Amino acid sequence: MTIVPPNLRPASRLVHGGTSRSQHGETSEAIFLTSGFVYDDAEQAEATFAGTVQHYQYSRFGNPTVAMLEQRLADIEGAEACVVTATGMAAVNAAMLSHLKAGDRVVASRALFGSCYWLVATLLPKFGIATEFVDGGDLEQWRAALSRPANLVLLETPSNPMLEIVDVRAVCDLAHEAGAIVVVDNVFATPLLQQPLRLGADVVVYSCTKHIDGQGRAMGGAVLGSAKWITDVLQPFTRNTGPTLSPFNAWLLLKGLETLALRVDAASRSAAILADFLANQPGITQVLYPTRADHPQHSLARAQMSGGGTLVTFEVEGGKAGAFAVMNGFQLIAVSNNLGDSKSLVTHPATTTHMRIGAEERARLGITDGVVRLSVGLEDVLDLQDDLARGLANLRADAATPLNSPALKSRVVAAIIA
Ligand SMILES: *Cc1c(COP(=O)(O)O)cnc(C)c1O
Repeated sequence: MTIVPPNLRPASRLVHGGTSRSQHGETSEAIFLTSGFVYDDAEQAEATFAGTVQHYQYSRFGNPTVAMLEQRLADIEGAEACVVTATGMAAVNAAMLSHLKAGDRVVASRALFGSCYWLVATLLPKFGIATEFVDGGDLEQWRAALSRPANLVLLETPSNPMLEIVDVRAVCDLAHEAGAIVVVDNVFATPLLQQPLRLGADVVVYSCTKHIDGQGRAMGGAVLGSAKWITDVLQPFTRNTGPTLSPFNAWLLLKGLETLALRVDAASRSAAILADFLANQPGITQVLYPTRADHPQHSLARAQMSGGGTLVTFEVEGGKAGAFAVMNGFQLIAVSNNLGDSKSLVTHPATTTHMRIGAEERARLGITDGVVRLSVGLEDVLDLQDDLARGLANLRADAATPLNSPALKSRVVAAIIA
């Protein structure tokens, strides 16, 4: 293991954390694209399986490239241990199923990523686990739900797409009283803007597919927690069920981490500027950005986050037609359901990511047909502002001429490159 100086600041830990050089002294982390490992002799194999010798056995259990990523993520999160997985959902699933058994009880915030919601609402009850949703921003609902014994709390803050903030410390106190561990989905905040373990959470989960890769290349997930919980509870589950991350994707994610601070800082700065810009535009009825003074929970956001993040949610007048007109007017910002990319992406939640939960649940979450989610990338903020203005101009123009044609888009991209 390469020795790095102690007490490095986050940006340095993102570059150096977990690095383990081979005998060749490579600068960039090596990709150990191997499923298995060999032993010097039969005795070494025996000692490895007996646990008296440390030796890699099989990449479903551990792999040197994957281990570097786990160590770097644990370093930046301030966690004792980390297990990475093939996707973010594999991470959430493993964190929940490894901890829970039939007869247990789960309390979760309602505003969850779609597949997390399905896990809690549909999968867990199939295995005899009782689940209950609360409005994450309402502490009284948490208090009521956690006045009875519970085993696990799952929450996401800021939430997708309405950027609702959950008071992590207060919910952790209530959950621990009720006997539950708290799992925080920290994707929107990233490890840089919010550290749930320091706020009392027991486990943090990530979709590394989002900001950690941040360049739209690889899927991945991570679960972080105490060494005891990871070793005794999570690892037996992941080692035997196999949600393993490939060494190649682990390497991409290591490279992603090296620039995470630069990217999150730049995109968050742009997001704050664009939120302010949107708030002053006709046709926009609401702008949500966690640290803006008009966010309903901005003081809580400022207390538990060190920045507002890379996502801005806004509501366009005229419902779906208005939202579509704005989105189709963009020439630089691409329509996508993804987020956390170096390319700015825009989503209409009601017809895509949040289509399946139904109109009633959307209404409860405040996801109207005019709501648009913007994931801010690394383009020049003035180009993004110009593009938002183009979208808003399209809202006012006759919507019969769609500006979002592929031909027009490629002309714009060509002009930018030139
Ligand atoms: C994307 C995402 C997930 C799921 O991660 P995948 O890598 O897509 O499996 C979970 N939670 C949140 C908040 C996400 O944005």
